Amino acid sequence: MLTAVILSALFLLAIVVLLSRKPRRQAEGIPEHKPDYKAILQKEVLFYRQLMEEEKNDFAQKVASFLEKTRIEGIGTEINDKDRVLVAASAIIPIFRFGNWRYKNITNVILYPDTFNHDFQYSEGERNIMGMVGNGFMNGQMILSKSALHHGFREPGGNENTAIHEFVHLLDAADGSVDGIPELLLNNISSLPWIKAMEKEISRIEKGKSDINPYALTNEAEFFAVVSEYFFEKPAKFKEKHPALYEMLDKMFNPENNSIPHSHIKY
Ligand SMILES: [Zn+2]
Repeated sequence: MLTAVILSALFLLAIVVLLSRKPRRQAEGIPEHKPDYKAILQKEVLFYRQLMEEEKNDFAQKVASFLEKTRIEGIGTEINDKDRVLVAASAIIPIFRFGNWRYKNITNVILYPDTFNHDFQYSEGERNIMGMVGNGFMNGQMILSKSALHHGFREPGGNENTAIHEFVHLLDAADGSVDGIPELLLNNISSLPWIKAMEKEISRIEKGKSDINPYALTNEAEFFAVVSEYFFEKPAKFKEKHPALYEMLDKMFNPENNSIPHSHIKY
């Protein structure tokens, strides 16, 4: 009897030792080395390549800072520096012109190999979700399909970028409600013209007269996320096809280039 107790104690000890041997940093999804963020950004991210040298330093700094505070994990898939940098770039692109503004509602980003379903299963059954941001028990978490993440940065890509889409939902959520009316971005601008422009485009999409992904019809929050993806992915095309919407999104995402005093942006 005593032998059995000792043996099982030893067995448990062995398990504990084996488990703790795995490098902690790696287990926590933090790379053990400091990757060359600028080299990866230069190779993979068009938005970054088009920045001025000084802005590139700023962008890379923000990517590094995001990755220090946010845990990126792969489930069912190995992830590498490129995956981490693409997630961080997707986070920074929408807020790049907002000074030191930071997301407050994100602690973890989980990458699944491919699309997943509502039960977070990625290997069988219905799989159509490319990304989601959590609320309730999922608060602070984002799930992304790794293949959709990569697809968003592939060139020449379409109008879509799943990861940017999800981070735009977080921006929208910063005022307490994910409703397609980002008060943070509409600061000191009446939200009425934005709501009107949204309604107008929604009716064009409904009539099949718009090249905006009909997923935008789901609700105002999805509309805002879908047009924002397009705005960042294909700015020239978006400006040409949707000049009024472009002007509004430009005011929201590039406040310094426009007439809103920078000091009026809430951080
Ligand atoms: Zn969405």
